[in-house]
Amino acid sequence: MKYYSTNGKAPVADLRKAVVKGLAEDRGLYMPEVINKLPQQFFTDMPKMKFQDIAFNVASAFFGDDVDLDSLQDLVYDTLQFPCPVVKVKESIYSLELFHGPTLAFKDVGARFMARLLQYFLRRGSSVCGDGSVCGDGSVCGDGSVCGDGSVCGCGTATKSKSVNVLVATSGDTGSAVANGFLGIDGIHVYVLYPKGKVSPIQECQFTTLGKNITAIEVDGVFDDCQALVKSAFMDKELNEHMMLTSANSINVARFLPQAFYYFNAVAQLIALGHQPSDIVICVPSGNFGNICAALFGHQMGMPVKRFIAANNANDIFFNYLQTGQYNPKPSKQTLANAMDVGDPSNFARIINLYSENGKLSPEETHKRITSLISGATYSDEQIRETMRQCYKETGYILDPHGACGYRALEEQLKPGEIGVFCETAHPAKFKEKVDDILGIDVAIPERLAAFMKGQKQSVPMTKAFADFKAYLLKQ
Ligand SMILES: *Cc1c(COP(=O)(O)O)cnc(C)c1O
Repeated sequence: MKYYSTNGKAPVADLRKAVVKGLAEDRGLYMPEVINKLPQQFFTDMPKMKFQDIAFNVASAFFGDDVDLDSLQDLVYDTLQFPCPVVKVKESIYSLELFHGPTLAFKDVGARFMARLLQYFLRRGSSVCGDGSVCGDGSVCGDGSVCGDGSVCGCGTATKSKSVNVLVATSGDTGSAVANGFLGIDGIHVYVLYPKGKVSPIQECQFTTLGKNITAIEVDGVFDDCQALVKSAFMDKELNEHMMLTSANSINVARFLPQAFYYFNAVAQLIALGHQPSDIVICVPSGNFGNICAALFGHQMGMPVKRFIAANNANDIFFNYLQTGQYNPKPSKQTLANAMDVGDPSNFARIINLYSENGKLSPEETHKRITSLISGATYSDEQIRETMRQCYKETGYILDPHGACGYRALEEQLKPGEIGVFCETAHPAKFKEKVDDILGIDVAIPERLAAFMKGQKQSVPMTKAFADFKAYLLKQ
């Protein structure tokens, strides 16, 4: 499979390069050239299949050309060591619980898959040049020299070490999922950049207490500053010659595509419960739009659902796009659902690219296609609180602030006969102080979360100036 850039000004890449580089040279996002439809037989069998087998079928369609199928199967099985169940909350509304992984949020799925895929490429002895082109046989490129397998080094510069450095900006949950997904993986070092004072104490301890190959960088700024530092680092020639850098943000194809696994599985579970696929509405609480983007790719592969809802907190950029056709990024606003505090969703470019057929359709036509499939919602912190209280009172189900946006959007927008499933993107205990306060309860902390809180915090303080971050990395 080849991957092209949404900006259309970078050469196409193979999977290896797309995973290692994260972002294309022209700052665009990688898109697979083909989205393979799954065969009808798969959809017939799906309701009786195990989660891992459903996921393996989906993974084969994306990655089967580039990873041998035995390894891919191991990779998928090893990633999915926990369930993603669909749980009934009330009549017609189900919760897709994506918090049963190690860090209790959906990002565990993508992060674990990406860590294992990167390790697969490293183990196969492939070295990667500064521009992301790869010697097939594992020899390191010199200046314009020919690799051992006959392919020519594309960049003309050697990377100094064979270890890979993952840079990841986080507003909370990405950092913990990536840090834990990569923890202890040989040859990979992870730098987690997070906004000082803007992630919850429980989130913070999940990436600042790990040690080993994980370094937490505490940036004096907001999430968008962290994201800007990471993006600048990838574009900096000197830095890329000094060390091999890669991203693990939701822009990385190895992180966002695997999220399609659990949507197929959710639809399979709903069909097994007797629901019609043509009634199913999937609602995704969204920030950078990686999660919903994976669902939309699933839909392109033939996943049978009726429509989608993207639920936002007060950061309403996508909501406004749906209403007006205009995309106006804004600085992010801090809200109760802080993992969705994004003012310029990075995967918006993928959604536009997908529905404009890589720019073939006009903005108006693209907007029309998008709004016929996806509707939006935006909620204030007060509405989130109200929804959490009302759902708890009515059903006993404890929503976290992100899931609450999804639940409310279904309550408001489901039509008669439709079956809604919203992503419960994180365990409520990850936001314990807020949830306890809002609901007046004492949410139990799962054992695997409590374990993180016993560790010692270690972090590197950083300003939001790129020069400072670069100077720090050049010393590593
Ligand atoms: C990351 C995250 C989101 C937003 O997901 P995107 O893929 O960025 O849209 C929502 N909820 C939680 C709990 C998250 O961690």
